[in-house]
Amino acid sequence: MLLVGLCMAESMRGMRLGSQSLESDRGVELASRQNCDFRCQVGHTFTVVFSSEAELPQTWECSECGSIAIRLENGVEIEVVGLEMEEKRSHYDMVLERRTREELEELLAEVLAEMRERRSRGRLTA
Ligand SMILES: [Zn+2]
Repeated sequence: MLLVGLCMAESMRGMRLGSQSLESDRGVELASRQNCDFRCQVGHTFTVVFSSEAELPQTWECSECGSIAIRLENGVEIEVVGLEMEEKRSHYDMVLERRTREELEELLAEVLAEMRERRSRGRLTA
């Protein structure tokens, strides 16, 4: 699988340029290029060709499964930095937990108040 990424700015934004038509040979030899290998989380490996002036992206979307592929250098995945991969679940859980607890306490207070009121009116056994 050979994809062609030509514009540095575009590839840095993660846009796919691989669908560019290669119907003619025109432009194939226009500039010096560099091959860049990627491996996705499933294990697909593929090569993307960049212009030699392009800044190589750390990751690329796998063309087969769509997951994030990490750039290989000498066959080894590079260490990706600055990529937002942290999970938001922990924060959500915290909010949910706190909210549930507050609601429970509120509910308990209501029930207690109601019981006291009923008892004071003598309707608890009614
Ligand atoms: Zn893949």
